[in-house]
Amino acid sequence: MLKEFKIKRILQGRLFRGDEIVASITNIAKEKGITAGLINGIGAVEMAKIGYYEQKTRKYMSQEFTEPMEILSLKGNVSIKDGEPFPHIHVVLSREDYSSIGGHLFEAQVFAFEFEIIEFEGTAYERGFDEDTGLFLWKG
Ligand code: ZN
Repeated sequence: MLKEFKIKRILQGRLFRGDEIVASITNIAKEKGITAGLINGIGAVEMAKIGYYEQKTRKYMSQEFTEPMEILSLKGNVSIKDGEPFPHIHVVLSREDYSSIGGHLFEAQVFAFEFEIIEFEGTAYERGFDEDTGLFLWKG
């Protein structure tokens, strides 16, 4: 399964201390009408709730980390779920001892955050339930 897109525009911005990353990116995508694209970000957080999809049980495990951490890499995509722009974001964070943790990003509280959203031109993927994985994956 493959689609070809052209880049429509690139938005670059920052969030402020205390902002929640996933909700903020979702709001921006909705406000700007972005249904297909790439998300990129770096910065630091004071709290992050990250997840791991347990393939065997088909359940998301999640854990909240409330400590100062660097965002080494935050990457994601935008597609459509339930008729709305839906950002899917993963993150790698580093802790005070330089060790890293990472996973699916459920929420994160910004200390400092700089990001880009690269909007694609074309018909966005739509997510639907996938029997093989139990996940909501791109259908077309
Ligand atoms: Zn994920």
